[in-house]
Amino acid sequence: MKVLVPVKRVVDYNVKVRVRSDGSGVETAGVKMSMNPFDEIGVEEAIRLREKGIATEVIAVSLGVAACAETIRTALAMGADRGILVETDAELQPLAVAKLLRALVEREQPGLVILGKQAIDDDMNATGQMLAALLGWPQGTFASKVAIEGDTATVTREVDGGLETVALRLPAIITTDLRLNEPRYASLPNIMKARKKPIETIRPADLGVDPAPRLKVVKVTEPPKRKAGAKVGSVAELVAKLKTEAKVI
Ligand code: AMP
Repeated sequence: MKVLVPVKRVVDYNVKVRVRSDGSGVETAGVKMSMNPFDEIGVEEAIRLREKGIATEVIAVSLGVAACAETIRTALAMGADRGILVETDAELQPLAVAKLLRALVEREQPGLVILGKQAIDDDMNATGQMLAALLGWPQGTFASKVAIEGDTATVTREVDGGLETVALRLPAIITTDLRLNEPRYASLPNIMKARKKPIETIRPADLGVDPAPRLKVVKVTEPPKRKAGAKVGSVAELVAKLKTEAKVI
Protein backbone atom coordinates (compact mmCIF):
# COMPACT_ATOMS: atom_id res chain seq x y z
CA MET A 1 0.00 0.00 0.00
CA LYS A 2 1.29 3.46 -0.96
CA VAL A 3 0.87 6.30 1.52
CA LEU A 4 0.64 9.87 0.26
CA VAL A 5 1.71 12.59 2.70
CA PRO A 6 1.02 16.24 1.80
CA VAL A 7 3.61 18.53 3.42
CA LYS A 8 3.07 22.28 3.46
CA ARG A 9 5.80 24.93 3.62
CA VAL A 10 4.81 27.44 6.29
CA VAL A 11 6.41 30.21 8.38
CA ASP A 12 8.47 28.41 11.07
CA TYR A 13 6.57 28.04 14.33
CA ASN A 14 9.35 29.87 16.25
CA VAL A 15 9.06 33.00 14.11
CA LYS A 16 6.95 35.92 15.34
CA VAL A 17 4.53 36.48 12.48
CA ARG A 18 4.36 40.03 11.04
CA VAL A 19 1.59 41.44 8.90
CA ARG A 20 2.59 43.12 5.61
CA SER A 21 2.41 46.90 5.84
CA ASP A 22 -0.35 47.05 3.19
CA GLY A 23 -2.52 44.59 5.20
CA SER A 24 -2.62 42.13 2.31
CA GLY A 25 -1.31 39.17 4.31
CA VAL A 26 1.53 37.80 6.40
CA GLU A 27 5.13 38.79 5.59
CA THR A 28 7.07 35.80 4.25
CA ALA A 29 10.01 37.59 2.58
CA GLY A 30 13.25 36.84 4.43
CA VAL A 31 11.39 34.72 7.01
CA LYS A 32 12.47 31.21 8.05
CA MET A 33 10.11 28.65 6.53
CA SER A 34 9.68 25.02 7.66
CA MET A 35 7.43 22.01 7.25
CA ASN A 36 4.04 22.45 8.91
CA PRO A 37 4.48 20.66 12.30
CA PHE A 38 1.33 18.53 11.86
CA ASP A 39 2.75 17.32 8.53
CA GLU A 40 5.97 16.20 10.24
CA ILE A 41 3.71 14.01 12.37
CA GLY A 42 2.08 12.71 9.16
CA VAL A 43 5.47 11.84 7.63
CA GLU A 44 6.51 10.08 10.86
CA GLU A 45 3.30 8.02 10.95
CA ALA A 46 3.69 7.00 7.30
CA ILE A 47 7.33 5.96 7.84
CA ARG A 48 6.32 3.91 10.89
CA LEU A 49 3.69 2.13 8.76
CA ARG A 50 6.40 1.30 6.22
CA GLU A 51 8.73 0.08 8.98
CA LYS A 52 5.92 -2.22 10.20
CA GLY A 53 5.58 -3.62 6.68
CA ILE A 54 2.10 -2.13 6.21
CA ALA A 55 3.08 0.61 3.77
CA THR A 56 5.25 -0.17 0.75
CA GLU A 57 6.08 3.39 -0.32
CA VAL A 58 5.80 6.84 1.28
CA ILE A 59 5.31 9.70 -1.17
CA ALA A 60 5.69 13.29 0.09
CA VAL A 61 3.87 15.94 -1.92
CA SER A 62 4.01 19.70 -1.60
CA LEU A 63 2.08 22.31 -3.54
CA GLY A 64 3.27 25.86 -4.06
CA VAL A 65 6.36 27.82 -5.05
CA ALA A 66 9.62 26.17 -6.21
CA ALA A 67 11.08 26.43 -2.67
CA CYS A 68 8.52 23.82 -1.49
CA ALA A 69 11.07 21.33 -2.86
CA GLU A 70 13.05 22.01 0.36
CA THR A 71 10.07 20.86 2.42
CA ILE A 72 9.85 17.68 0.35
CA ARG A 73 13.61 17.19 0.85
CA THR A 74 13.06 17.33 4.63
CA ALA A 75 10.40 14.60 4.35
CA LEU A 76 12.80 12.52 2.23
CA ALA A 77 15.54 12.99 4.86
CA MET A 78 13.12 11.77 7.55
CA GLY A 79 12.57 8.62 5.45
CA ALA A 80 9.95 9.23 2.73
CA ASP A 81 10.80 7.40 -0.51
CA ARG A 82 10.06 9.99 -3.20
CA GLY A 83 8.54 13.39 -3.69
CA ILE A 84 6.15 15.23 -5.97
CA LEU A 85 6.19 19.03 -6.23
CA VAL A 86 3.11 20.65 -7.77
CA GLU A 87 4.71 23.95 -8.62
CA THR A 88 2.73 27.17 -8.91
CA ASP A 89 3.13 30.80 -7.88
CA ALA A 90 -0.66 31.08 -7.50
CA GLU A 91 -2.08 31.56 -3.99
CA LEU A 92 -3.41 28.12 -3.04
CA GLN A 93 -6.54 27.80 -0.93
CA PRO A 94 -7.77 24.50 0.60
CA LEU A 95 -10.28 23.70 -2.18
CA ALA A 96 -7.60 24.07 -4.87
CA VAL A 97 -5.15 21.98 -2.82
CA ALA A 98 -7.83 19.30 -2.30
CA LYS A 99 -8.61 19.19 -6.05
CA LEU A 100 -4.91 18.91 -6.92
CA LEU A 101 -4.47 16.15 -4.31
CA ARG A 102 -7.53 14.31 -5.68
CA ALA A 103 -5.89 14.29 -9.13
CA LEU A 104 -2.65 12.96 -7.60
CA VAL A 105 -4.58 10.28 -5.68
CA GLU A 106 -6.22 9.17 -8.93
CA ARG A 107 -2.76 8.94 -10.53
CA GLU A 108 -0.87 7.29 -7.63
CA GLN A 109 -3.70 5.15 -6.14
CA PRO A 110 -2.51 5.29 -2.48
CA GLY A 111 -4.34 3.28 0.19
CA LEU A 112 -3.99 6.13 2.67
CA VAL A 113 -3.46 9.89 2.60
CA ILE A 114 -2.15 11.37 5.86
CA LEU A 115 -2.52 15.16 6.13
CA GLY A 116 -2.01 17.51 9.03
CA LYS A 117 -5.20 18.52 10.85
CA GLN A 118 -4.35 22.12 9.98
CA ALA A 119 -1.63 24.29 8.53
CA ILE A 120 -0.31 26.66 11.20
CA ASP A 121 -0.18 29.62 8.80
CA ASP A 122 -3.85 30.07 7.94
CA ASP A 123 -5.39 27.53 10.38
CA MET A 124 -7.94 26.45 7.78
CA ASN A 125 -8.44 22.87 9.03
CA ALA A 126 -10.24 22.09 5.79
CA THR A 127 -8.05 20.37 3.20
CA GLY A 128 -8.29 16.78 4.55
CA GLN A 129 -12.05 16.99 4.92
CA MET A 130 -12.47 18.47 1.43
CA LEU A 131 -10.25 15.79 -0.10
CA ALA A 132 -12.30 13.04 1.60
CA ALA A 133 -15.49 14.60 0.24
CA LEU A 134 -14.12 14.96 -3.30
CA LEU A 135 -12.94 11.33 -3.35
CA GLY A 136 -15.95 9.93 -1.47
CA TRP A 137 -13.49 8.28 0.97
CA PRO A 138 -13.94 7.80 4.74
CA GLN A 139 -12.01 10.17 7.00
CA GLY A 140 -10.51 9.97 10.49
CA THR A 141 -9.61 13.51 11.51
CA PHE A 142 -7.57 14.70 14.54
CA ALA A 143 -6.01 11.25 14.92
CA SER A 144 -4.11 10.56 18.15
CA LYS A 145 -3.70 6.83 17.38
CA VAL A 146 -3.83 4.82 14.16
CA ALA A 147 -3.90 1.02 13.86
CA ILE A 148 -4.21 -0.74 10.50
CA GLU A 149 -5.30 -4.31 10.05
CA GLY A 150 -6.25 -5.72 6.66
CA ASP A 151 -8.40 -3.15 4.91
CA THR A 152 -9.47 -1.38 8.11
CA ALA A 153 -7.88 1.61 9.82
CA THR A 154 -8.89 2.11 13.45
CA VAL A 155 -8.42 5.77 14.33
CA THR A 156 -8.64 7.26 17.81
CA ARG A 157 -9.75 10.90 17.56
CA GLU A 158 -9.36 13.72 20.03
CA VAL A 159 -12.79 15.28 20.48
CA ASP A 160 -14.09 17.80 23.04
CA GLY A 161 -15.48 15.21 25.44
CA GLY A 162 -12.48 12.83 25.29
CA LEU A 163 -11.52 10.18 22.75
CA GLU A 164 -13.63 8.73 19.95
CA THR A 165 -12.65 5.60 18.02
CA VAL A 166 -13.74 5.13 14.42
CA ALA A 167 -13.11 2.26 11.99
CA LEU A 168 -12.48 3.26 8.38
CA ARG A 169 -12.48 1.03 5.33
CA LEU A 170 -9.36 1.71 3.24
CA PRO A 171 -8.62 3.68 1.11
CA ALA A 172 -9.08 6.52 3.57
CA ILE A 173 -8.01 9.97 4.68
CA ILE A 174 -6.38 10.59 8.07
CA THR A 175 -5.47 13.96 9.57
CA THR A 176 -2.94 14.11 12.39
CA ASP A 177 -3.29 15.62 15.86
CA LEU A 178 -0.38 16.63 18.08
CA ARG A 179 -0.28 13.49 20.24
CA LEU A 180 -0.18 10.93 17.40
CA ASN A 181 3.62 10.55 17.60
CA GLU A 182 6.88 12.40 18.11
CA PRO A 183 8.53 12.97 14.71
CA ARG A 184 12.15 11.84 14.34
CA TYR A 185 15.01 14.15 13.45
CA ALA A 186 16.69 13.49 10.14
CA SER A 187 20.18 12.05 10.73
CA LEU A 188 23.13 13.36 8.71
CA PRO A 189 23.51 10.13 6.66
CA ASN A 190 19.79 10.27 5.87
CA ILE A 191 20.05 13.93 4.83
CA MET A 192 22.84 12.89 2.42
CA LYS A 193 20.80 9.92 1.14
CA ALA A 194 17.77 12.16 0.61
CA ARG A 195 19.71 14.19 -1.96
CA LYS A 196 19.59 11.20 -4.31
CA LYS A 197 15.88 10.47 -3.85
CA PRO A 198 13.70 11.58 -6.77
CA ILE A 199 11.41 14.64 -6.75
CA GLU A 200 9.09 14.96 -9.74
CA THR A 201 7.94 18.49 -10.60
CA ILE A 202 4.59 19.04 -12.29
CA ARG A 203 2.20 21.98 -12.77
CA PRO A 204 -1.48 22.24 -11.82
CA ALA A 205 -2.34 22.22 -15.56
CA ASP A 206 -0.69 18.77 -15.87
CA LEU A 207 -3.32 17.56 -13.39
CA GLY A 208 -6.11 19.39 -15.23
CA VAL A 209 -6.86 21.65 -12.24
CA ASP A 210 -7.38 25.42 -12.21
CA PRO A 211 -6.04 26.53 -8.79
CA ALA A 212 -7.52 30.05 -8.93
CA PRO A 213 -8.59 31.28 -5.44
CA ARG A 214 -12.33 31.32 -4.64
CA LEU A 215 -12.02 33.40 -1.48
CA LYS A 216 -10.86 37.00 -1.40
CA VAL A 217 -8.87 38.16 1.63
CA VAL A 218 -10.24 41.59 2.48
CA LYS A 219 -7.71 42.61 5.11
CA VAL A 220 -5.20 41.12 7.55
CA THR A 221 -4.44 43.00 10.78
CA GLU A 222 -2.27 42.43 13.87
CA PRO A 223 -4.18 41.64 17.08
CA PRO A 224 -4.43 44.67 19.43
CA LYS A 225 -1.32 45.13 21.60
CA ARG A 226 -1.76 44.03 25.23
CA LYS A 227 -1.10 46.70 27.85
CA ALA A 228 1.95 46.09 30.06
CA GLY A 229 1.24 44.46 33.44
CA ALA A 230 2.02 46.07 36.84
CA LYS A 231 3.88 44.65 39.84
CA VAL A 232 2.21 44.74 43.24
CA GLY A 233 4.14 45.18 46.47
CA SER A 234 2.29 42.70 48.67
CA VAL A 235 -0.42 40.04 48.77
CA ALA A 236 -2.70 42.52 50.55
CA GLU A 237 -2.30 45.01 47.68
CA LEU A 238 -3.01 42.22 45.17
CA VAL A 239 -6.20 41.21 46.99
CA ALA A 240 -7.30 44.85 47.19
CA LYS A 241 -6.74 45.28 43.44
CA LEU A 242 -8.61 42.07 42.69
CA LYS A 243 -11.56 43.38 44.73
CA THR A 244 -11.66 46.88 43.29
CA GLU A 245 -10.00 46.85 39.85
CA ALA A 246 -10.15 43.36 38.30
CA LYS A 247 -12.93 42.81 35.83
CA VAL A 248 -13.99 39.91 33.65
CA ILE A 249 -13.32 40.69 30.01
P1 AMP B 1 -5.34 23.46 6.02
O1 AMP B 1 -6.67 22.86 5.61
O2 AMP B 1 -4.89 24.57 5.09
O3 AMP B 1 -5.32 23.87 7.47
O4 AMP B 1 -4.23 22.32 5.83
C1 AMP B 1 -4.41 21.00 6.34
C2 AMP B 1 -3.36 20.07 5.76
O5 AMP B 1 -3.50 20.00 4.33
C3 AMP B 1 -1.91 20.46 5.98
O6 AMP B 1 -1.46 20.06 7.27
C4 AMP B 1 -1.21 19.69 4.86
O7 AMP B 1 -1.08 18.31 5.20
C5 AMP B 1 -2.23 19.81 3.72
N1 AMP B 1 -1.92 20.98 2.87
C6 AMP B 1 -2.58 22.17 2.82
N2 AMP B 1 -2.00 23.00 1.91
C7 AMP B 1 -0.94 22.32 1.39
C8 AMP B 1 0.07 22.63 0.42
N3 AMP B 1 0.11 23.81 -0.21
N4 AMP B 1 1.00 21.67 0.15
C9 AMP B 1 0.98 20.47 0.78
N5 AMP B 1 0.06 20.13 1.70
C10 AMP B 1 -0.89 21.04 2.00
